[in-house]
Amino acid sequence: MTRLDFVAMARGSVTLAFIDAVRARLPAVRLLTDAADRETYRRDETAYIPAGLPGAVALPTRTEEVAELVRICAEHDVPIVPRGAGSGLSGGANGLDGALTIAFTAMDKILEIDTANLCVVTQPGVINATLKAAVAEHGLFYPPDPASFEMCSIGGNLGTNAGGLCCVKYGQTRDSVLSLEVVMADGTIVRTGGRNIKDVAGYSLTHLIVGSQGTLAIITEATLRLRPTPPPRSTLLAFFPTLESAGDAVAGMAVAGIAPVTCELMDKFTIAAVDDMHGLGLDREAAAMLMVESDLPGDASADELARAEVACTAAGATTTVRSRDVAEADLLRQARRAAHWALERLGEVKMEDVGVPRSKVPEMLRAVERIAAKHGVDIGTFGHAGDGNLHPDLVLPRGHPDAQAITEAVQADLYQAALDLGGTITGEHGVGSARQAWMATQRGADAVRIMWAIKHALDPQGLLNPGRVLPPE
Ligand SMILES: Cc1cc2nc3c(=O)[nH]c(=O)nc-3n(C[C@H](O)[C@H](O)[C@H](O)COP(=O)(O)OP(=O)(O)OC[C@H]3O[C@@H](n4cnc5c(N)ncnc54)[C@H](O)[C@@H]3O)c2cc1C
Repeated sequence: MTRLDFVAMARGSVTLAFIDAVRARLPAVRLLTDAADRETYRRDETAYIPAGLPGAVALPTRTEEVAELVRICAEHDVPIVPRGAGSGLSGGANGLDGALTIAFTAMDKILEIDTANLCVVTQPGVINATLKAAVAEHGLFYPPDPASFEMCSIGGNLGTNAGGLCCVKYGQTRDSVLSLEVVMADGTIVRTGGRNIKDVAGYSLTHLIVGSQGTLAIITEATLRLRPTPPPRSTLLAFFPTLESAGDAVAGMAVAGIAPVTCELMDKFTIAAVDDMHGLGLDREAAAMLMVESDLPGDASADELARAEVACTAAGATTTVRSRDVAEADLLRQARRAAHWALERLGEVKMEDVGVPRSKVPEMLRAVERIAAKHGVDIGTFGHAGDGNLHPDLVLPRGHPDAQAITEAVQADLYQAALDLGGTITGEHGVGSARQAWMATQRGADAVRIMWAIKHALDPQGLLNPGRVLPPE
């Protein structure tokens, strides 16, 4: 039995009395109790991580309903798993046996677009792409853009502190949050901020809760910072003879003070998979490709890409190509976003999410090559090289008998390599239920003890997404 099973079974489970209480006190809330319905909430996008069957799934539409659900859970000692769109890659929204999953799909209203204060107030179930499109109608821009932006929710983005393709310039989700409305583990509703750009009154609960994967509080509303829409992007593709030279170009751009909106990398294996899927005519002989985008206005854009091109050529790029127009730039970005699906056509994919300081990208890429050779496996690497966040994807033949053991061995080597370079075991996907074993190694026992103290203070009953993020005490 795993620790996760133990946590779930040690707690109360959904019972008939619990279901009766929810139906009596919240008659308008949709509650799924049928086994087939609950089964669809068992997993997020990590098919390979053990997951439990929720005892029930609730789909509230209002904050007060969430608060009342949490109170009923506290009374019946039923653990809660908050869930957005289920596109997560760390098992954070995976079901727990017998627990209540609160799915935010029906809390999908954009409540206000405040053009004077450049912010948007939204419920958590809104899909990232929908929010982007809504604010764009007002000439505004919501930067966070995970590659999954057309399927993931704002609540999930806040839960994981999602990153994406333009973090290198605009930061992660956390950098675009002004305020949250949250339901605490006792059902109290708390607002953590307002619409102020500057606000340092007390501890920043907003920053504590963003990225906590539903273990400290449940997010029911968010006030997100917007910017004026930047000009359409133009794109530079640069192809390199070695992975290391591509890494050198990333480091070279940082040294030269170039801060493009996007600096994405694909290795040879991924280039071929993406090219097979999209027929783009990419240079399949190259060991690596960088996609660099500029969203500066007018001539500044061409100037930024020209400087990036110089850095790429100096690092050894064999070919550089510019997008001809906005449509071509959009197509190239979409192709990069689909890299994970392109690799999935080749086998069963386990996506990793290591991060290293930007100057260490070449060394991390070398380490990935070494690890693939050591285990005799295919690893396709792509990712947000501009901020040092790489996704080495282990691709195994479907149904491989030793998949679990190989995955664990490869993961351990990747995590250790990242940590040896001063990096992290996860840049944006979160610890969830996938990486707890490495928390103390990365953060140290004292830091983990402090995290547990915060968890106990905010969630003394241990109701909120138990068994996730923190390793066993
Ligand atoms: C093809 C593909 C590409 C991806 N690319 C990226 C990428 O570029 N960058 C990136 O960061 N991620 C990426 N992801 C991972 C994933 O899309 C993100 O982690 C995303 O933020 C998850 O959102 P979701 O709505 O699906 O959340 P879920 O998977 O449902 O939940 C994620 C976590 O947030 C918690 N949570 C959800 N809602 C709430 C809430 N209301 N209150 C509190 N906690 C909550 C859950 O408990 C869980 O721990 C990718 C995934 C795929 C499949």
